[in-house]
Amino acid sequence: MNTTKYIFVTGGVSSSLGKGIIAASLAKLLQARGFVVTIQKLDPYINVDPGTLNPYEHGECFVTDDGAETDLDLGHYERFLNRPTSQANNVTTGRIYQSVIDKERRGEFLGKTVQVVPHITNEIKERIQHLGQDGTYDIIITEIGGTVGDIESLPYIEAVRQLKWELGAHNSLFIHLTLVPYLAAAGELKTKPTQHSVKTLMESGIQADILVCRTEHELSEDLRVKLALFCNVQKEAVIQSIDAATIYDVPNLMLEEGLDRIALKKLRLEAKQEPNLTQWNEFLSRHKNSKAHVKIGLIGKYVELQDSYKSIIESFIHAGAANEVQVEVVSIHSEHLVPENVAQELSGLDGILVAPGFGERGIEGKIAAVQFARTHGLPFLGICLGMQMAVIEYARHELGLTNANSTEMDAHTPDPVIDLMEEQKNITEKGGTMRLGAWACDLMSNSIVGTIYGQTPIMERHRHRYEFNNDYREALESAGLRVTGVNPETSLVEIVELPDHPWFVGVQYHPEYKSTVAQPHPLFVGFVGAAHKHSMKQ
Ligand code: GLN
Repeated sequence: MNTTKYIFVTGGVSSSLGKGIIAASLAKLLQARGFVVTIQKLDPYINVDPGTLNPYEHGECFVTDDGAETDLDLGHYERFLNRPTSQANNVTTGRIYQSVIDKERRGEFLGKTVQVVPHITNEIKERIQHLGQDGTYDIIITEIGGTVGDIESLPYIEAVRQLKWELGAHNSLFIHLTLVPYLAAAGELKTKPTQHSVKTLMESGIQADILVCRTEHELSEDLRVKLALFCNVQKEAVIQSIDAATIYDVPNLMLEEGLDRIALKKLRLEAKQEPNLTQWNEFLSRHKNSKAHVKIGLIGKYVELQDSYKSIIESFIHAGAANEVQVEVVSIHSEHLVPENVAQELSGLDGILVAPGFGERGIEGKIAAVQFARTHGLPFLGICLGMQMAVIEYARHELGLTNANSTEMDAHTPDPVIDLMEEQKNITEKGGTMRLGAWACDLMSNSIVGTIYGQTPIMERHRHRYEFNNDYREALESAGLRVTGVNPETSLVEIVELPDHPWFVGVQYHPEYKSTVAQPHPLFVGFVGAAHKHSMKQ
């Protein structure tokens, strides 16, 4: 018998309250109590996946081992739980409709009229239960994107309402995350928006079991009693989620509030053990008690929006803790960099990271930054487009190929040192067609990566269409750029290094997708270590 239990997390009052962090924190606590947990995100937009979305719209696109382009909340889930997610962990309205329409075209509905209820809601329920099918998980937390009352989340709300009854008593529970705003003029926290939002949820037939209230001030006893009374929840099920210094504090804050205890009680689950957060708390203490400070420049074209580089920023937090240094990430807009101001703009930095990206905007600034790091012994990490820029910079300035470029930026460059992958040449559709997900890479010994990974081959996640052009490999290598990682099957160049530089590494893959609290990524740990060393020489 399948005994998987389900927790549904909805949001009310406002977006951006941090449902993903609450879901991840609860999952962490349940995991720390010995349960096997995963988290799933249901996104109400019509894009099939966020792969085609501009980072300004939706923040970073997170990539899983199985090559799914997903919501950035999945990154939080992995970083908190240290467990990979997959395609099944992120479902969008676009994917649901696509699948229902495909079934209709195959005649699977036997002449019936295809409708939102039951066909779309059935598809949603199947996607939710699919993760629980093989009994791997004791608990599945499903986060429903958007805010209760939105037109586009209605089918999801209806689907989980039905599922609650189908699963039977004590097998599912509803957590509703709301905002309790503070009105400065009145000097008071206000509960009315939460009352309304709980009421909206009830109009769809769902009674919240637990309320998690985002707030800037402590909730008083009276206020908790009032919320419990008006929202039909037990007082102990009113959980305060006060603003935290770091998202990594939230599991401990939720533990203090008893979120895990009340959830287990409502699901009639016996806790297997007291939460074991030893490793987590060791990380927190290293993060908060750093012994030194380093400044790293993050050079990209989406820097106005922090969420665009979410996984990179979090990887620096993990790697900083591992090195016991505080990493200050300074965002630098690649469009503002030119060879004339690069020394000024990058002064005082202990390392630079040239970010992933697409298209022409800002690339000359990235190339100027690479050149500065290369010629000034400044630790450098180039990720995906950042690695491609390092190859172009080397070809232009060390091989004398002044017009070397990527064919992504200049289709007619005389020296396409970065070129479209062969298998990409006949692809016209944009969605889900890049080289995606985990691929193997063989590492050379006596290299930075050979040392820091301490194993070969490695598996890393990818998201690109262009690659290092092997026609130029010999020339670039004889000029001093060393290839230290290649794909064993295709010889695709995955990593370049500069042996005559303190720390210069460009990687075609995305190490940031695999860094977690429990396992900080070796490349980030090595890079922050090199930046720390650099800072001590100044
Ligand atoms: N635009 C480049 C490519 O497609 C790099 C992609 C990236 O940085 N993720 O190859």
